[in-house]
Amino acid sequence: MLATAAGAAVVAGTGFGAQPAAAARQGVAGQRPDRELRELLREIDPRRIEATVRKLASFGTRHTLSVQDDPQRGIGAARDWIRDRMVEYAKASGGRMTVELQSYVQEPANRVPVPTRITNVIATLRGGADPGRVHVVSGHYDSRASDPMDATSDAPGADDDASGVAVVLELARVMARRRPAATLVFAAVAGEEQGLYGANHMAEVFEAKGTRVRAMFTNDIVGSPTADDGERDPRTIRLFAEGVPTSETPEEAETRRSVGGENDSASRQLARFVRDVADVGNNDATGMRVRVIYRRDRYLRGGDHIPFLERGYPAARFTEPAEDYAHQHQDVRVENGKQYGDLPEFCDFGYIARVARVNAAALWSLVQAPEAPRGAKIVTSALTNDTELVWESPEPGHGPRPVRYEVVWRETTEHEWTHVRNVGNTTRHTVELSKDNVFFGVRAVGPGGHRSPVAFPAPQR
Ligand SMILES: [Zn+2]
Repeated sequence: MLATAAGAAVVAGTGFGAQPAAAARQGVAGQRPDRELRELLREIDPRRIEATVRKLASFGTRHTLSVQDDPQRGIGAARDWIRDRMVEYAKASGGRMTVELQSYVQEPANRVPVPTRITNVIATLRGGADPGRVHVVSGHYDSRASDPMDATSDAPGADDDASGVAVVLELARVMARRRPAATLVFAAVAGEEQGLYGANHMAEVFEAKGTRVRAMFTNDIVGSPTADDGERDPRTIRLFAEGVPTSETPEEAETRRSVGGENDSASRQLARFVRDVADVGNNDATGMRVRVIYRRDRYLRGGDHIPFLERGYPAARFTEPAEDYAHQHQDVRVENGKQYGDLPEFCDFGYIARVARVNAAALWSLVQAPEAPRGAKIVTSALTNDTELVWESPEPGHGPRPVRYEVVWRETTEHEWTHVRNVGNTTRHTVELSKDNVFFGVRAVGPGGHRSPVAFPAPQR
């Protein structure tokens, strides 16, 4: 056995070769859901999700350029209906949930030929201990037909993306009655199909206010587990998470080229966190495998997480396991006996409910945990074959406070953390392994055992 720091306990493995990988991984991942989270997951209701998808499809089109003042048809009707639902849910929050229409006028630009008001519908559930730390979940409520500029034809947008909005609304409903430690933002955004306009505006507002956005998840096309060949994969959700950060500065790129880290962006740590708390292997209450994809988005495509990534916020995208292109971005029609169009009949509401549970497990575990350690560094002042890590605790007043920290590590060729050491309530620890040979990280653990995402240390010069 290797020596450990005073008060520290080896939870799983002290080095490599000491024990089989499977045994070593125990205790690294797999934060089991507590009673409150299990209750919350049980309350997620596929019938409510179905009602939301069908209602949103009933507005005919929700195209961003469609009519905004007709109570029955167009994006304005959808906007007001979503707002009314959020206001209804907020009543159960004792004043902690507020609802706003966040809007601006987009001047003519790509796919926006005339000045157009773009409105995000946003419910904010204020955190108790750390209200300034914000976690965002979104779906887009605009839709489109075959022609992206066609603002009048029917565009039911059931899968793309009433499904994502239904996830957001159901999360707002079940969480409004609870008391998160940090703040949750439930957003239905517009302008996605025209060019991510609504999400870009929301991210811009957060940035202008200096908001500490610690995670953002967009749910876009989460309505069906059935591929175009009929193959079903109803227990899998994909999570797209970038490696090299979109927002990387030249200095950060230089460090990364020197010491590695292209697989250790904040978004990748967030994706690992989601697996730890929401994948069925760790949390049987979601019933879902979280298939993390090491890409920013699908091949040459984009989504509402990108404006957040551009501003340096950790963000990722949930999407169904295999898409059916006959049922997205298509005019509603029958051709050679085949039904085209993004209709509710092609959605699976039990599946969407499971996607909502994955989101709920991730978000609730984030808001109940302490913030990740700040300023994590590997000390490089002396050449040694040990690795000394230092970090700072979250700022005072930003609760919940960590009761201890964990140092994690893995071989550089592994994709998930394989080893963990409980180092106690300290902000400095030395591991008897060379920083040249493995990747290290550090995370905070709160009073309820809730772990923060991992902070990836930079070299301390
Ligand atoms: Zn979409």
